[in-house]
Amino acid sequence: MAIIYTDDLAFDRAHIWHPYTSMTNPLPSFKVKSANGVHLTLEGGQQVIDGMSSWWAVIHGYNHPRLNQAVSSQLAQMAHVMFGGLTHEPAIELCKKLVTLSPEGLEKVFLADSGSIAVEVALKMAIQYWHSLGQPEKNKLLTVKNGYHGDTFAAMAVCDPVNGMHQLFANSINQHFFADAPQTRFDQDWQPNDIAPLKALFEQHHQEIAAFIIEPIVQGAGGMRIYHPQYLAECRKLCDEYNVLMIIDEIATGFGRTGKLFASEWADVTPDIMCLGKALTGGYMTLAATLTTKHIAETISNGEAGCFMHGPTFMGNPLACAVANESLAILMENQWQDQVSRIEKTLTSLISPLAEHHRVADVRVLGAIGVIEAKQAVNMENIQALFVEQGVWIRPFGKLIYLMPPFVSSDEQLQQLVSAIALALDNEHCFQ
Ligand SMILES: *Cc1c(COP(=O)(O)O)cnc(C)c1O
Repeated sequence: MAIIYTDDLAFDRAHIWHPYTSMTNPLPSFKVKSANGVHLTLEGGQQVIDGMSSWWAVIHGYNHPRLNQAVSSQLAQMAHVMFGGLTHEPAIELCKKLVTLSPEGLEKVFLADSGSIAVEVALKMAIQYWHSLGQPEKNKLLTVKNGYHGDTFAAMAVCDPVNGMHQLFANSINQHFFADAPQTRFDQDWQPNDIAPLKALFEQHHQEIAAFIIEPIVQGAGGMRIYHPQYLAECRKLCDEYNVLMIIDEIATGFGRTGKLFASEWADVTPDIMCLGKALTGGYMTLAATLTTKHIAETISNGEAGCFMHGPTFMGNPLACAVANESLAILMENQWQDQVSRIEKTLTSLISPLAEHHRVADVRVLGAIGVIEAKQAVNMENIQALFVEQGVWIRPFGKLIYLMPPFVSSDEQLQQLVSAIALALDNEHCFQ
């Protein structure tokens, strides 16, 4: 299939940064004209089935009548107003919902403008908490390898030290503590030794550690690894034992993706601080949130600064809050549980046979997440072209070809996504 290079695409290539993309040798971008349900319509009229939910976010599908209505109703009231000294119904309603839905005890909500900022806010809360308690020496962070928490400096400093950007920015980011990533898979028997490397770091360094941060059950952009819930339960015990705050980053996993509303429910764990983002607005707008306990919020507020030191210009944007409210209302009608368990069943039956393929190292499925780990890295340009030709939108990285489709995807659409992957696996030009 020929990609139509209009003048617009030439301008795009010459002037516009895309995520993690070269400005001298950019791969082609496909121009999207519109999107509806699980379909993106490309310029030229071709439709592709979205297997990515625009990076975990578009859980209810594109151009959703109720979400559209929520935005336009709010637009007629006000698009934005500063949050300093002012408040509004969309934010109040959203925070009520978040406090109700989230694990017991998380009741103070900070509305952030993106996932990375929600993580920055969580880390600042932890450090300000210990400062307020007169223990400023507790200012380091502990995490596991293969994590991903965002692209800003503090978030980057807790991303995987190898596939993150530590080498390049070594002199500009803070150095923290990294344990080996969890090794026991979700579906294996729990191996108690798995927690030993992390326990050793707690033992040695807890006096300097403000917080432990982890993605619950699924490590996303750092490797699409799915680990045993008992690991997360052990993390909670270690945080309690060594007096370290626990931050759970639910930005990718939150709102049903893993088959639980929040992935930490697999281990029945309540963090001290929780980060939400991505699917919060059903993929309509950028919005994130950091939730914490009354105790942490009060300790911070009783400290030297007298308040929490953060406040973005677009904090609590009413349009974003309004669409988040409607997205959560759709979720609370509870069809996501049936949708996600059906997707899990279908993906499992479609993806499992691919484990036998000579180019495949591993396959794994949890909830509405399906991962095919190849033995070699993909050739992005060729595999992308093949996928579009096959009528699907799948965006691999490195050796990982993965799906996290909208919850409204049908079995036939999942079949088409996996068939395209199977075809790519048979094509040597799709790999390096
Ligand atoms: C995407 C992601 C982030 C960063 O969110 P942005 O909105 O891209 O800044 C942080 N943590 C996790 C687990 C993520 O998946």
